Amino acid sequence: MIGDLSGKTALVTGASGGLGAHFAQTLAKAGASVTLAARRRDALEEQVDEIIGSGGRANAAALDVTDPTSVAAVFSNDPFDIVVNNAGVQTTTPAIALETVEWDKVLDTNLKGAFLVAQAAAKAMKEAERGGSIVNIASILGIRVAGALMPYAVSKAGLIQMTRSMALEWARYAIRVNAICPGYIETPLNADFFGSEPGQALIRRIPQRRLGQESDLDGALLLLASDAGRYMTGSDIVVDGGHLVSSL
Ligand code: NAD
Repeated sequence: MIGDLSGKTALVTGASGGLGAHFAQTLAKAGASVTLAARRRDALEEQVDEIIGSGGRANAAALDVTDPTSVAAVFSNDPFDIVVNNAGVQTTTPAIALETVEWDKVLDTNLKGAFLVAQAAAKAMKEAERGGSIVNIASILGIRVAGALMPYAVSKAGLIQMTRSMALEWARYAIRVNAICPGYIETPLNADFFGSEPGQALIRRIPQRRLGQESDLDGALLLLASDAGRYMTGSDIVVDGGHLVSSL
């Protein structure tokens, strides 16, 4: 069956809420045994219970993607077949006023963190000689820009190029590395903004005239994570209701 992940193990970073929690549920529903990771292990209990309650397999791990020791600890056991680099942060300070501490936080999490996790994943996959799939969660802001999101856009553009570089180097180990570039997806964190007039105006600029829902990303995730995407590596899949092709 296309997208079947029975017998596979998966890791999702930043899985305590938002898209990460949804990705973990989607992979578990497809049959994978999923490790949900976040800085605070206790923040993951609800998500893990939900997956197990609906018949899936899941466990929790503490992971700060910016800390190499923490990353190494998560990869100290068996390798994962699928790794979803989802943890991410943003800042909305205009570039002219941006403090280096904000720049560092966004780049350290979104780019260096994704590198540390992908490298640790690839080392373990290579050693086990069974390959795997790494899915980096980038953004349409890695391709175009929006105001007051400079470090975020830079980090996601870097993540797309990192995806291609890793894909090139690791294909020989049967490791596939791809990215998903979501457009604006509705989550509890941004619901207030999209209910406001500026948020509604933004939605009117999306050709499909609606926000993405978390489930709109399931197709791309399962394609890249499973054998259905076995000849895909170095790709970035845009899932944005046509936002990137909005009229200039
Ligand atoms: P979110 O803030 O709800 O989730 C981000 C998660 O990352 C949180 O659980 C947070 O705790 C975790 N995290 C942050 N720093 C971490 C660290 N150092 N170590 C481990 N975990 C850490 O945001 P979201 O909307 O669910 O976004 C998830 C991913 O999707 C991000 O990479 C984001 O850039 C990307 N994305 C989201 C949208 C959207 O519209 N929601 C669009 C495009 C891309």
